[in-house]
Amino acid sequence: MSKKISRRDFLKIAGVAAGAVVASEIITPLILPEKLEFDQNVSLWVPAQPPKNTALAEDLEVDVAIIGGGFTGLSSAYQILQRFPGKSVAVFEARGVGQGASGRNGGMLLPQTPNEYMAVYSDAKTHQRIYDLTVKHMDDLAVIVKAQEIDIDLRRHGALLVIARESQVAKYKSYAQQAQSLGMPIEFWDRARTRSEIGTDVYFASLFDANAAELHPMKLILALKKAAESVGARIYEDSPVIEIQDGETIRLTVGDQNHMVIAKAVVIATNGYTSKLGYFKNSVFPVHTPMATTPSLPDSIFEEIGWKNKAGYSDTFTILYHLSRTSDNRIMIGSGYVNYFFNNGIIDKDDPAFLKAHLQKELGRIYPKLAGMEFEHFWTGILGFSLDFMQSVGVMGAHRNIYYGLGYAGHGINLSTLFGKVIADLYAGEGKAWDGLPFINHQYIPLPPEPLKWAGIQATIQYYKADDAGK
Ligand SMILES: Cc1cc2nc3c(=O)[nH]c(=O)nc-3n(C[C@H](O)[C@H](O)[C@H](O)COP(=O)(O)OP(=O)(O)OC[C@H]3O[C@@H](n4cnc5c(N)ncnc54)[C@H](O)[C@@H]3O)c2cc1C
Repeated sequence: MSKKISRRDFLKIAGVAAGAVVASEIITPLILPEKLEFDQNVSLWVPAQPPKNTALAEDLEVDVAIIGGGFTGLSSAYQILQRFPGKSVAVFEARGVGQGASGRNGGMLLPQTPNEYMAVYSDAKTHQRIYDLTVKHMDDLAVIVKAQEIDIDLRRHGALLVIARESQVAKYKSYAQQAQSLGMPIEFWDRARTRSEIGTDVYFASLFDANAAELHPMKLILALKKAAESVGARIYEDSPVIEIQDGETIRLTVGDQNHMVIAKAVVIATNGYTSKLGYFKNSVFPVHTPMATTPSLPDSIFEEIGWKNKAGYSDTFTILYHLSRTSDNRIMIGSGYVNYFFNNGIIDKDDPAFLKAHLQKELGRIYPKLAGMEFEHFWTGILGFSLDFMQSVGVMGAHRNIYYGLGYAGHGINLSTLFGKVIADLYAGEGKAWDGLPFINHQYIPLPPEPLKWAGIQATIQYYKADDAGK
Protein backbone atom coordinates (compact mmCIF):
# COMPACT_ATOMS: atom_id res chain seq x y z
CA MET A 1 0.00 0.00 0.00
CA SER A 2 1.46 3.37 -0.90
CA LYS A 3 1.65 5.95 1.88
CA LYS A 4 1.07 9.58 0.85
CA ILE A 5 4.04 11.66 2.00
CA SER A 6 3.25 14.75 4.05
CA ARG A 7 4.76 18.17 3.45
CA ARG A 8 6.95 17.65 6.53
CA ASP A 9 8.24 14.27 5.22
CA PHE A 10 8.87 15.83 1.85
CA LEU A 11 10.88 18.64 3.41
CA LYS A 12 12.96 16.18 5.43
CA ILE A 13 13.85 14.22 2.28
CA ALA A 14 14.63 17.42 0.39
CA GLY A 15 16.72 18.67 3.33
CA VAL A 16 18.84 15.53 3.50
CA ALA A 17 19.46 15.66 -0.26
CA ALA A 18 20.28 19.34 -0.10
CA GLY A 19 22.54 19.01 2.93
CA ALA A 20 24.96 16.94 0.85
CA VAL A 21 26.12 20.02 -1.07
CA VAL A 22 26.84 22.71 1.52
CA ALA A 23 30.10 23.86 -0.11
CA SER A 24 27.93 25.45 -2.80
CA GLU A 25 27.69 28.70 -0.79
CA ILE A 26 31.32 29.34 -1.74
CA ILE A 27 31.66 27.72 -5.16
CA THR A 28 28.39 28.71 -6.90
CA PRO A 29 28.88 32.51 -6.76
CA LEU A 30 32.28 32.13 -8.46
CA ILE A 31 30.86 30.12 -11.35
CA LEU A 32 27.45 31.76 -11.60
CA PRO A 33 27.52 35.38 -10.42
CA GLU A 34 23.99 36.75 -9.93
CA LYS A 35 22.75 39.82 -11.77
CA LEU A 36 21.32 42.73 -9.78
CA GLU A 37 18.39 43.81 -11.95
CA PHE A 38 14.93 45.20 -11.32
CA ASP A 39 11.68 45.22 -13.28
CA GLN A 40 9.10 47.97 -13.17
CA ASN A 41 6.39 47.82 -10.54
CA VAL A 42 3.09 48.19 -12.45
CA SER A 43 0.72 47.15 -9.68
CA LEU A 44 -2.66 48.71 -8.94
CA TRP A 45 -1.04 50.47 -5.98
CA VAL A 46 1.67 52.41 -7.86
CA PRO A 47 -0.23 55.74 -8.10
CA ALA A 48 0.13 56.04 -4.29
CA GLN A 49 3.92 55.53 -4.37
CA PRO A 50 5.60 58.49 -2.67
CA PRO A 51 7.76 60.84 -4.76
CA LYS A 52 11.33 59.58 -4.87
CA ASN A 53 14.08 60.99 -2.67
CA THR A 54 17.41 61.72 -4.30
CA ALA A 55 20.06 59.07 -4.76
CA LEU A 56 23.15 58.91 -2.56
CA ALA A 57 25.60 61.44 -4.00
CA GLU A 58 28.51 61.23 -1.53
CA ASP A 59 30.39 58.84 0.72
CA LEU A 60 28.75 58.40 4.12
CA GLU A 61 29.37 57.12 7.63
CA VAL A 62 26.38 55.95 9.66
CA ASP A 63 25.54 53.90 12.72
CA VAL A 64 23.05 51.73 10.84
CA ALA A 65 22.70 51.17 7.08
CA ILE A 66 19.44 49.53 6.00
CA ILE A 67 19.31 47.86 2.61
CA GLY A 68 15.84 47.78 1.03
CA GLY A 69 12.92 50.21 1.22
CA GLY A 70 10.04 47.80 1.73
CA PHE A 71 8.12 47.14 4.94
CA THR A 72 11.08 45.41 6.64
CA GLY A 73 13.51 48.22 5.87
CA LEU A 74 11.24 51.17 6.66
CA SER A 75 9.87 49.55 9.79
CA SER A 76 13.41 48.76 11.02
CA ALA A 77 14.50 52.36 10.41
CA TYR A 78 11.52 53.72 12.35
CA GLN A 79 11.82 51.28 15.23
CA ILE A 80 15.59 51.70 15.67
CA LEU A 81 15.32 55.50 15.70
CA GLN A 82 12.35 55.43 18.08
CA ARG A 83 14.62 53.69 20.53
CA PHE A 84 17.86 55.51 19.68
CA PRO A 85 16.97 59.03 18.52
CA GLY A 86 20.64 60.06 18.44
CA LYS A 87 21.80 57.40 16.00
CA SER A 88 22.38 57.99 12.31
CA VAL A 89 20.28 55.59 10.24
CA ALA A 90 20.19 55.52 6.43
CA VAL A 91 17.99 53.41 4.14
CA PHE A 92 19.24 52.51 0.65
CA GLU A 93 16.58 51.49 -1.83
CA ALA A 94 17.56 50.28 -5.30
CA ARG A 95 14.60 51.93 -7.09
CA GLY A 96 11.75 53.58 -5.15
CA VAL A 97 10.31 52.56 -1.78
CA GLY A 98 7.58 49.98 -2.40
CA GLN A 99 9.39 48.71 -5.53
CA GLY A 100 9.30 45.13 -4.24
CA ALA A 101 6.58 42.90 -2.80
CA SER A 102 5.57 45.61 -0.30
CA GLY A 103 4.20 47.68 -3.18
CA ARG A 104 2.70 44.77 -5.12
CA ASN A 105 0.88 42.55 -2.63
CA GLY A 106 -2.75 41.64 -1.99
CA GLY A 107 -3.16 43.91 1.03
CA MET A 108 -4.34 41.17 3.40
CA LEU A 109 -3.09 41.96 6.90
CA LEU A 110 -3.10 38.60 8.63
CA PRO A 111 -2.30 37.36 12.11
CA GLN A 112 -0.03 34.31 12.51
CA THR A 113 2.72 33.14 10.11
CA PRO A 114 2.64 31.07 6.89
CA ASN A 115 3.35 27.87 8.81
CA GLU A 116 1.13 28.65 11.76
CA TYR A 117 -1.79 29.97 9.67
CA MET A 118 -4.82 28.09 10.95
CA ALA A 119 -2.59 25.15 11.85
CA VAL A 120 -0.49 24.31 14.89
CA TYR A 121 2.95 23.79 13.37
CA SER A 122 4.99 24.25 16.57
CA ASP A 123 3.07 23.51 19.78
CA ALA A 124 -0.15 24.89 21.25
CA LYS A 125 1.58 27.33 23.62
CA THR A 126 3.86 28.78 20.95
CA HIS A 127 0.98 28.88 18.50
CA GLN A 128 -1.13 30.94 20.87
CA ARG A 129 1.84 33.20 21.62
CA ILE A 130 2.37 33.84 17.90
CA TYR A 131 -1.32 34.59 17.41
CA ASP A 132 -1.42 37.04 20.31
CA LEU A 133 1.72 38.89 19.38
CA THR A 134 0.81 39.18 15.70
CA VAL A 135 -2.65 40.53 16.59
CA LYS A 136 -1.13 43.00 19.04
CA HIS A 137 1.29 44.10 16.34
CA MET A 138 -1.63 44.96 14.04
CA ASP A 139 -2.84 47.40 16.72
CA ASP A 140 0.67 48.83 17.16
CA LEU A 141 0.99 49.29 13.41
CA ALA A 142 -2.35 51.13 13.29
CA VAL A 143 -1.07 53.52 15.98
CA ILE A 144 2.14 54.27 14.01
CA VAL A 145 0.14 54.89 10.84
CA LYS A 146 -2.44 57.08 12.58
CA ALA A 147 0.31 59.36 13.89
CA GLN A 148 1.35 60.02 10.27
CA GLU A 149 -2.17 61.19 9.41
CA ILE A 150 -2.22 58.98 6.33
CA ASP A 151 -5.31 56.98 5.49
CA ILE A 152 -4.15 53.50 4.44
CA ASP A 153 -7.68 52.17 3.76
CA LEU A 154 -7.41 49.92 6.81
CA ARG A 155 -10.51 47.74 6.95
CA ARG A 156 -10.67 45.46 9.95
CA HIS A 157 -13.33 43.16 8.60
CA GLY A 158 -11.56 39.85 9.13
CA ALA A 159 -10.40 37.25 6.62
CA LEU A 160 -11.38 33.74 5.65
CA LEU A 161 -9.43 30.62 4.95
CA VAL A 162 -11.65 28.69 2.55
CA ILE A 163 -11.35 24.91 2.52
CA ALA A 164 -10.70 23.65 -0.99
CA ARG A 165 -10.92 19.91 -0.36
CA GLU A 166 -13.59 17.90 1.39
CA SER A 167 -10.94 15.73 3.03
CA GLN A 168 -9.57 18.79 4.88
CA VAL A 169 -12.84 19.78 6.58
CA ALA A 170 -12.47 17.65 9.71
CA LYS A 171 -8.90 18.85 10.29
CA TYR A 172 -9.84 22.53 10.08
CA LYS A 173 -12.99 22.06 12.16
CA SER A 174 -10.89 20.51 14.86
CA TYR A 175 -8.35 23.35 14.54
CA ALA A 176 -11.13 25.92 15.10
CA GLN A 177 -12.16 24.12 18.29
CA GLN A 178 -8.57 23.99 19.52
CA ALA A 179 -8.02 27.66 18.63
CA GLN A 180 -11.15 28.68 20.53
CA SER A 181 -10.03 26.69 23.57
CA LEU A 182 -6.79 28.71 23.41
CA GLY A 183 -8.80 31.94 23.36
CA MET A 184 -8.40 32.69 19.66
CA PRO A 185 -11.65 33.86 18.01
CA ILE A 186 -11.49 31.52 15.00
CA GLU A 187 -14.96 30.54 13.73
CA PHE A 188 -15.74 27.45 11.66
CA TRP A 189 -18.30 28.14 8.93
CA ASP A 190 -19.86 25.17 7.16
CA ARG A 191 -20.43 25.00 3.41
CA ALA A 192 -23.85 26.69 3.48
CA ARG A 193 -22.62 29.55 5.66
CA THR A 194 -19.53 29.99 3.48
CA ARG A 195 -21.68 30.11 0.37
CA SER A 196 -24.07 32.62 1.93
CA GLU A 197 -21.15 34.93 2.86
CA ILE A 198 -19.02 34.85 -0.30
CA GLY A 199 -21.47 33.63 -2.93
CA THR A 200 -19.67 30.53 -4.19
CA ASP A 201 -20.24 26.88 -3.66
CA VAL A 202 -16.78 25.66 -4.62
CA TYR A 203 -15.47 25.54 -1.04
CA PHE A 204 -16.41 22.89 1.50
CA ALA A 205 -16.24 25.14 4.57
CA SER A 206 -14.14 28.03 5.89
CA LEU A 207 -12.45 29.47 8.95
CA PHE A 208 -13.12 33.10 9.82
CA ASP A 209 -10.73 35.24 11.80
CA ALA A 210 -12.28 38.57 12.81
CA ASN A 211 -8.87 39.97 13.72
CA ALA A 212 -7.56 40.02 10.15
CA ALA A 213 -7.77 43.15 8.03
CA GLU A 214 -7.08 44.67 4.65
CA LEU A 215 -5.18 47.76 3.65
CA HIS A 216 -3.66 49.67 0.75
CA PRO A 217 -0.05 48.46 0.80
CA MET A 218 1.49 51.43 -1.00
CA LYS A 219 -0.25 53.81 1.38
CA LEU A 220 1.31 51.80 4.20
CA ILE A 221 4.69 52.33 2.48
CA LEU A 222 3.91 56.05 2.35
CA ALA A 223 3.05 56.09 6.06
CA LEU A 224 6.14 54.10 7.06
CA LYS A 225 8.41 56.30 4.94
CA LYS A 226 6.94 59.36 6.65
CA ALA A 227 7.25 57.72 10.08
CA ALA A 228 10.90 56.78 9.49
CA GLU A 229 11.79 60.25 8.21
CA SER A 230 9.92 61.91 11.09
CA VAL A 231 12.31 60.28 13.55
CA GLY A 232 15.38 61.18 11.49
CA ALA A 233 16.00 58.37 8.98
CA ARG A 234 17.68 59.39 5.74
CA ILE A 235 16.19 57.50 2.82
CA TYR A 236 18.13 57.30 -0.44
CA GLU A 237 16.30 55.98 -3.50
CA ASP A 238 17.75 54.87 -6.84
CA SER A 239 20.62 53.74 -4.62
CA PRO A 240 21.25 50.01 -5.05
CA VAL A 241 23.77 48.41 -2.73
CA ILE A 242 26.21 46.62 -5.03
CA GLU A 243 28.47 45.01 -2.49
CA ILE A 244 28.81 44.40 1.25
CA GLN A 245 32.19 43.92 2.91
CA ASP A 246 31.71 42.40 6.31
CA GLY A 247 33.82 43.53 9.30
CA GLU A 248 33.71 45.32 12.62
CA THR A 249 32.68 48.28 10.53
CA ILE A 250 30.87 47.27 7.37
CA ARG A 251 31.58 48.80 3.96
CA LEU A 252 28.85 49.11 1.39
CA THR A 253 29.34 50.06 -2.24
CA VAL A 254 26.27 52.01 -3.34
CA GLY A 255 24.93 53.16 -6.72
CA ASP A 256 26.42 53.72 -10.17
CA GLN A 257 29.04 56.08 -8.75
CA ASN A 258 30.28 53.40 -6.30
CA HIS A 259 29.88 55.59 -3.23
CA MET A 260 31.29 54.11 -0.05
CA VAL A 261 29.08 53.81 3.02
CA ILE A 262 30.72 52.84 6.28
CA ALA A 263 28.31 51.48 8.89
CA LYS A 264 28.64 50.00 12.36
CA ALA A 265 25.66 47.78 11.68
CA VAL A 266 23.63 46.75 8.65
CA VAL A 267 20.04 45.58 8.26
CA ILE A 268 19.43 43.33 5.26
CA ALA A 269 15.80 44.04 4.34
CA THR A 270 15.78 42.73 0.77
CA ASN A 271 13.66 39.58 1.25
CA GLY A 272 13.32 37.84 -2.16
CA TYR A 273 16.26 39.83 -3.58
CA THR A 274 18.68 38.92 -0.76
CA SER A 275 20.79 36.37 -2.65
CA LYS A 276 22.01 39.25 -4.87
CA LEU A 277 23.89 40.57 -1.86
CA GLY A 278 25.51 37.18 -1.26
CA TYR A 279 23.43 36.26 1.80
CA PHE A 280 20.91 33.40 2.20
CA LYS A 281 21.91 32.38 -1.33
CA ASN A 282 20.98 28.77 -0.90
CA SER A 283 18.08 29.03 1.48
CA VAL A 284 15.75 31.95 0.65
CA PHE A 285 14.86 32.22 -3.01
CA PRO A 286 12.62 34.47 -5.14
CA VAL A 287 9.32 32.93 -6.18
CA HIS A 288 7.28 34.82 -8.76
CA THR A 289 3.50 35.01 -8.53
CA PRO A 290 0.79 36.91 -10.48
CA MET A 291 -2.01 39.26 -9.38
CA ALA A 292 -4.87 40.92 -11.23
CA THR A 293 -7.83 43.18 -10.57
CA THR A 294 -11.11 43.72 -12.38
CA PRO A 295 -12.42 47.24 -13.01
CA SER A 296 -14.45 48.77 -10.14
CA LEU A 297 -17.72 46.88 -10.17
CA PRO A 298 -21.21 48.09 -9.23
CA ASP A 299 -22.68 46.77 -5.95
CA SER A 300 -25.35 45.05 -8.04
CA ILE A 301 -22.77 42.51 -9.33
CA PHE A 302 -21.82 41.49 -5.79
CA GLU A 303 -25.52 41.25 -4.91
CA GLU A 304 -26.14 39.13 -7.98
CA ILE A 305 -23.40 36.64 -7.18
CA GLY A 306 -24.23 36.73 -3.46
CA TRP A 307 -20.81 37.97 -2.27
CA LYS A 308 -21.94 39.85 0.86
CA ASN A 309 -18.99 39.57 3.17
CA LYS A 310 -16.20 42.11 2.60
CA ALA A 311 -13.52 39.85 4.11
CA GLY A 312 -10.85 38.67 1.71
CA TYR A 313 -10.06 34.99 1.48
CA SER A 314 -7.31 32.55 0.61
CA ASP A 315 -7.73 28.84 0.01
CA THR A 316 -6.10 25.76 1.50
CA PHE A 317 -4.10 24.71 -1.56
CA THR A 318 -0.34 24.77 -1.02
CA ILE A 319 -0.03 26.97 -4.12
CA LEU A 320 -2.98 28.97 -2.91
CA TYR A 321 -5.28 31.48 -4.55
CA HIS A 322 -6.42 34.59 -2.73
CA LEU A 323 -9.35 36.84 -3.54
CA SER A 324 -10.54 40.08 -2.07
CA ARG A 325 -12.58 43.20 -2.73
CA THR A 326 -10.66 46.46 -2.81
CA SER A 327 -12.06 49.58 -1.18
CA ASP A 328 -13.07 50.80 -4.68
CA ASN A 329 -15.01 47.57 -5.37
CA ARG A 330 -12.57 45.75 -7.63
CA ILE A 331 -12.11 42.03 -7.32
CA MET A 332 -8.48 41.19 -6.74
CA ILE A 333 -7.28 37.67 -7.47
CA GLY A 334 -3.77 36.39 -7.02
CA SER A 335 -1.44 33.45 -7.17
CA GLY A 336 -2.47 29.80 -7.69
CA TYR A 337 0.72 29.80 -9.73
CA VAL A 338 4.36 30.22 -8.73
CA ASN A 339 7.61 29.99 -10.66
CA TYR A 340 11.31 30.05 -9.91
CA PHE A 341 13.84 31.23 -12.50
CA PHE A 342 17.37 29.93 -12.79
CA ASN A 343 20.04 31.37 -10.46
CA ASN A 344 17.61 33.31 -8.24
CA GLY A 345 16.24 35.21 -11.25
CA ILE A 346 14.29 38.29 -10.19
CA ILE A 347 12.82 39.16 -13.59
CA ASP A 348 9.58 37.30 -14.35
CA LYS A 349 9.91 35.48 -17.68
CA ASP A 350 6.43 33.94 -17.80
CA ASP A 351 4.05 34.99 -20.56
CA PRO A 352 1.64 37.60 -19.07
CA ALA A 353 -1.17 36.38 -21.38
CA PHE A 354 -0.80 32.88 -19.94
CA LEU A 355 -0.82 34.16 -16.35
CA LYS A 356 -3.86 36.39 -16.95
CA ALA A 357 -5.75 33.49 -18.55
CA HIS A 358 -4.86 31.32 -15.56
CA LEU A 359 -6.33 33.87 -13.10
CA GLN A 360 -9.34 34.51 -15.32
CA LYS A 361 -10.07 30.78 -15.44
CA GLU A 362 -10.00 30.48 -11.64
CA LEU A 363 -12.22 33.55 -11.20
CA GLY A 364 -14.74 31.96 -13.61
CA ARG A 365 -14.55 28.66 -11.75
CA ILE A 366 -15.30 30.33 -8.40
CA TYR A 367 -17.91 32.73 -9.79
CA PRO A 368 -19.32 31.35 -13.08
CA LYS A 369 -21.20 34.63 -13.60
CA LEU A 370 -17.83 36.39 -13.86
CA ALA A 371 -16.42 34.01 -16.48
CA GLY A 372 -14.51 35.90 -19.15
CA MET A 373 -14.31 39.13 -17.13
CA GLU A 374 -11.38 41.24 -18.33
CA PHE A 375 -8.78 42.50 -15.88
CA GLU A 376 -7.87 46.16 -15.70
CA HIS A 377 -4.59 45.67 -13.83
CA PHE A 378 -2.15 42.80 -13.96
CA TRP A 379 1.28 42.45 -12.37
CA THR A 380 3.67 39.99 -10.81
CA GLY A 381 5.86 40.16 -7.73
CA ILE A 382 8.38 38.08 -5.86
CA LEU A 383 7.95 36.30 -2.58
CA GLY A 384 10.94 35.40 -0.40
CA PHE A 385 10.47 31.66 -0.04
CA SER A 386 12.31 28.83 1.68
CA LEU A 387 11.95 25.08 1.46
CA ASP A 388 10.26 24.92 4.87
CA PHE A 389 8.01 28.02 4.34
CA MET A 390 9.72 29.63 7.36
CA GLN A 391 10.62 33.21 7.96
CA SER A 392 13.67 34.26 9.93
CA VAL A 393 14.73 37.37 11.82
CA GLY A 394 17.99 37.76 13.64
CA VAL A 395 21.57 38.84 13.71
CA MET A 396 24.63 37.22 12.14
CA GLY A 397 28.25 37.77 11.18
CA ALA A 398 31.52 37.41 13.08
CA HIS A 399 30.88 40.82 14.66
CA ARG A 400 27.16 40.26 15.27
CA ASN A 401 26.33 43.43 13.38
CA ILE A 402 24.36 42.13 10.37
CA TYR A 403 20.63 42.09 11.10
CA TYR A 404 18.04 40.61 8.80
CA GLY A 405 14.35 39.71 8.43
CA LEU A 406 13.03 37.69 5.48
CA GLY A 407 11.25 34.58 4.13
CA TYR A 408 7.65 35.72 4.71
CA ALA A 409 6.20 33.84 1.71
CA GLY A 410 2.73 35.35 1.02
CA HIS A 411 2.17 36.37 4.61
CA GLY A 412 4.52 39.28 5.04
CA ILE A 413 2.70 42.55 5.65
CA ASN A 414 2.19 42.02 9.34
CA LEU A 415 5.35 39.96 9.87
CA SER A 416 7.78 42.24 8.01
CA THR A 417 6.59 45.29 9.93
CA LEU A 418 6.76 43.27 13.17
CA PHE A 419 10.30 42.15 12.33
CA GLY A 420 11.36 45.80 12.19
CA LYS A 421 10.53 45.89 15.90
CA VAL A 422 12.31 42.59 16.58
CA ILE A 423 15.41 43.92 14.76
CA ALA A 424 15.34 47.09 16.88
CA ASP A 425 15.12 44.96 20.05
CA LEU A 426 18.01 42.76 18.93
CA TYR A 427 20.03 45.87 18.05
CA ALA A 428 19.32 47.23 21.53
CA GLY A 429 20.51 43.95 23.06
CA GLU A 430 16.99 43.33 24.32
CA GLY A 431 15.99 40.37 22.21
CA LYS A 432 15.10 38.19 25.22
CA ALA A 433 11.42 38.98 24.91
CA TRP A 434 11.40 37.06 21.61
CA ASP A 435 13.22 33.97 22.88
CA GLY A 436 11.52 30.69 22.07
CA LEU A 437 9.78 31.92 18.94
CA PRO A 438 10.50 29.68 15.94
CA PHE A 439 11.38 32.52 13.58
CA ILE A 440 14.16 33.97 15.75
CA ASN A 441 17.43 33.13 13.95
CA HIS A 442 15.63 30.25 12.24
CA GLN A 443 18.19 28.03 10.53
CA TYR A 444 17.16 27.16 6.99
CA ILE A 445 17.51 23.87 5.14
CA PRO A 446 20.26 24.49 2.56
CA LEU A 447 19.48 23.96 -1.10
CA PRO A 448 22.03 22.54 -3.55
CA PRO A 449 23.81 24.78 -6.10
CA GLU A 450 22.46 25.45 -9.59
CA PRO A 451 21.38 23.71 -11.73
CA LEU A 452 20.30 21.22 -9.04
CA LYS A 453 18.59 24.01 -7.14
CA TRP A 454 16.47 25.01 -10.13
CA ALA A 455 15.59 21.36 -10.79
CA GLY A 456 14.79 20.74 -7.10
CA ILE A 457 12.53 23.80 -6.78
CA GLN A 458 10.76 22.98 -10.06
CA ALA A 459 10.23 19.40 -8.83
CA THR A 460 8.85 20.75 -5.55
CA ILE A 461 6.46 23.08 -7.40
CA GLN A 462 5.29 20.19 -9.59
CA TYR A 463 4.81 18.04 -6.49
CA TYR A 464 2.65 20.68 -4.81
CA LYS A 465 0.70 21.28 -8.05
CA ALA A 466 -0.10 17.58 -8.36
CA ASP A 467 -0.96 17.39 -4.67
CA ASP A 468 -3.29 20.42 -4.96
CA ALA A 469 -4.95 18.81 -7.96
CA GLY A 470 -5.56 15.76 -5.77
CA LYS A 471 -3.36 13.50 -7.90
C1 LIG B 1 1.95 39.27 -5.46
C2 LIG B 1 2.14 39.26 -3.95
C3 LIG B 1 1.03 39.25 -3.12
C4 LIG B 1 1.20 39.25 -1.73
N1 LIG B 1 0.09 39.34 -0.92
C5 LIG B 1 0.25 39.44 0.41
C6 LIG B 1 -0.88 39.65 1.25
O1 LIG B 1 -2.01 39.80 0.79
N2 LIG B 1 -0.66 39.68 2.59
C7 LIG B 1 0.58 39.56 3.13
O2 LIG B 1 0.71 39.59 4.36
N3 LIG B 1 1.67 39.42 2.35
C8 LIG B 1 1.54 39.37 1.01
N4 LIG B 1 2.65 39.26 0.22
C9 LIG B 1 3.98 39.20 0.85
C10 LIG B 1 4.47 40.58 1.30
O3 LIG B 1 4.17 41.54 0.32
C11 LIG B 1 5.99 40.54 1.54
O4 LIG B 1 6.30 39.49 2.41
C12 LIG B 1 6.52 41.82 2.17
O5 LIG B 1 6.11 42.94 1.42
C13 LIG B 1 8.04 41.76 2.26
O6 LIG B 1 8.54 43.04 2.57
P1 LIG B 1 10.08 43.33 2.52
O7 LIG B 1 10.28 44.74 2.88
O8 LIG B 1 10.80 42.33 3.34
O9 LIG B 1 10.51 43.04 1.01
P2 LIG B 1 10.24 43.90 -0.31
O10 LIG B 1 8.98 44.66 -0.22
O11 LIG B 1 10.43 43.00 -1.47
O12 LIG B 1 11.38 44.99 -0.27
C14 LIG B 1 12.71 44.73 -0.58
C15 LIG B 1 13.26 46.00 -1.22
O13 LIG B 1 14.67 45.87 -1.35
C16 LIG B 1 15.05 46.54 -2.54
N5 LIG B 1 16.35 46.00 -2.90
C17 LIG B 1 16.63 44.76 -3.35
N6 LIG B 1 17.95 44.63 -3.55
C18 LIG B 1 18.52 45.80 -3.20
C19 LIG B 1 19.85 46.27 -3.17
N7 LIG B 1 20.88 45.51 -3.55
N8 LIG B 1 20.08 47.54 -2.76
C20 LIG B 1 19.06 48.33 -2.36
N9 LIG B 1 17.77 47.92 -2.37
C21 LIG B 1 17.51 46.68 -2.79
C22 LIG B 1 13.93 46.22 -3.50
O14 LIG B 1 13.88 47.15 -4.56
C23 LIG B 1 12.71 46.27 -2.61
O15 LIG B 1 12.10 47.53 -2.61
C24 LIG B 1 2.51 39.23 -1.17
C25 LIG B 1 3.62 39.26 -2.01
C26 LIG B 1 3.45 39.27 -3.40
C27 LIG B 1 4.67 39.30 -4.29
